[in-house]
Amino acid sequence: MAEPKVNELMEKIVSLCKRRGFVFQSSEIYGGINGFWDYGPLGAELKRNVKELWWTTMTRQREDVAGLEATIIMHPQIWRASGHVDTFCDPMCDCLLTKKRFRADQIDAQSGNAYHYTGAKDSASGKEIVEPYAVLLPAGKPPESARKTASQFYQLRGLQNVELLGERTEKVENSTRYNPENGSLLTEPRPFNLMFKTYVGPVESEEGIAYLRPETAQAIFAQFKNVLETSRQKVPFGVCQVGKAFRNEVTPRNFTFRSREFEQMELEFFIKPDEVVEAISGSVAVVDETKHPGEPQPNWGWKAWHTYWVEERVRFYENIGLSRETLGFHRQTPEELAHYARACVDILFKFPFSKRDEQGNVLGDELEGIAARSDFDLSQHERFSGKPMGVFDDELRVAWAKLDDAKKQELSDRYYNARLKYLTKVNKSDVPVEKLEKDAKEDAEGLAKGQYIPHVIEPSAGVDRLILALISNAYSEVTSTDEKGKSETRVIMKFHPRVAPFKVGVFPLLKNKPELVKRALEVRDLLRPHMNVFYDDGGSMGKRYARQDEAGTPFGVTIDFDTLGEKGPELLDTVTLRDRDTSKQERVKISDLLPLLLGKIR
Ligand code: ATP
Repeated sequence: MAEPKVNELMEKIVSLCKRRGFVFQSSEIYGGINGFWDYGPLGAELKRNVKELWWTTMTRQREDVAGLEATIIMHPQIWRASGHVDTFCDPMCDCLLTKKRFRADQIDAQSGNAYHYTGAKDSASGKEIVEPYAVLLPAGKPPESARKTASQFYQLRGLQNVELLGERTEKVENSTRYNPENGSLLTEPRPFNLMFKTYVGPVESEEGIAYLRPETAQAIFAQFKNVLETSRQKVPFGVCQVGKAFRNEVTPRNFTFRSREFEQMELEFFIKPDEVVEAISGSVAVVDETKHPGEPQPNWGWKAWHTYWVEERVRFYENIGLSRETLGFHRQTPEELAHYARACVDILFKFPFSKRDEQGNVLGDELEGIAARSDFDLSQHERFSGKPMGVFDDELRVAWAKLDDAKKQELSDRYYNARLKYLTKVNKSDVPVEKLEKDAKEDAEGLAKGQYIPHVIEPSAGVDRLILALISNAYSEVTSTDEKGKSETRVIMKFHPRVAPFKVGVFPLLKNKPELVKRALEVRDLLRPHMNVFYDDGGSMGKRYARQDEAGTPFGVTIDFDTLGEKGPELLDTVTLRDRDTSKQERVKISDLLPLLLGKIR
């Protein structure tokens, strides 16, 4: 029962997005382009608010984070160093009949009877095709339908009067080798690199190959030294960036959730390795990973910082209206983690399309991943660029000199082992073990001189997924019945005032009364420098409120005859302020309006 309802809700959301100008299909007049979406007037405002809030929270309101805005196309070596050229792949397979492409790991498993054929013959011309093919039918379905599908397959390969050859059946359990939509056999899964390729310069040659960035993070690592030198930051500190990313997703789906062009908001927060923290502070803080550890402390190691960022990010979501109940968490298992990562927590949102567990609880889909990535990224860029990525930390140099020999040995052994593990993993068998051991030893010896490569905690969020979460979360319907018994359902988009595209609607009661219009325009101009105002003088008040409810505008201000003092001096220069969620109206002095509204939208 639950399934159709879920899809129905998603359909309503998609249709509202188009009707009200939140999201349009890209290039719609040409039939659209799969995986690309445009934001209409309301969506553009919503998106801008979200990015602005993220930027303000992550950098402007912090001492320890600086911002960056890097290019989309960067030196291709960046993507070799990051591993994207070699490993940024999804397994992909195609339907042998329709050519439809699937991500092999996203195919729902099917069971039934598979009808196999060794090939087919044209009964008129005698031409034969020897190419095996198979069709999976749910148990109980007559074989004719498999034969029909198989005939189509061989017709596409040039036979007209198909005579199927070598039919045999097989019972199949939970197989992902067949197209769930038509039962046709799929091609073997093969890796598909998700990066969009292009050429820089006038010649389309190998040397000119460049990639549209599949994430914004790598630019932060590549510019790490420049930011460090120009921002007067010291580890621990972060660099954040908002911008476009591109992934040639095999199967874009769920509206904007999986797109091919999207935006990310990423922070790389550089921290001292635990050995360095221990050398300076004597020990590394032990934290309860289930709650916010409070204000950052000098003895925080990666675990405390990781916990801190997960909780900070949850607070951000709560601040813009996504309560903890709407979110989910997934702590990646050791098998899921990248080899260099220490931990990764995904923050999920319970979308209308999210799957449920056996108990019927909605599981949620990823909004943001917060990963503890060790010193992998900076180390890789050091290796590939030949430029040192380490930092000098005088506090460490001084503290190290004061340690006793046993402690020095213990910490440098730990650091050595971690470096050797990394070097062994990334160099595979290309470099002799002695060389790797020598390099790891040199790295460990750097500690005494106050040198190390920072580790990093990476909170990486998708703007578009967050917009979809906010839209899904805001969507609500109210049904009212009038005196004649006619009922009507209206949509109210209950956006948190901080993200709402428009903060306030300003309405003159009647548009043909110049005094009302004049006063309403004055109110609009009073508020406009401070917030996004929608001025509307068309149609009945009910219609105007309803339009703003659908746009998610949290407040409405109506200028009526009382404002002009027609009912008496006590109401002169007052307006009605309507609350979208309660429909309650209060009388407010125009002079109080701005501070009142600012208090509600900030
Ligand atoms: P998924 O497993 O869903 O493909 P991911 O783990 O590959 O996501 P990351 O590489 O961690 O994603 O990217 C960080 C964030 O960027 C994600 O949490 C998500 O919000 C966003 N993102 C990633 N891919 C897409 C996409 N194709 N469309 C929209 N947003 C995306």
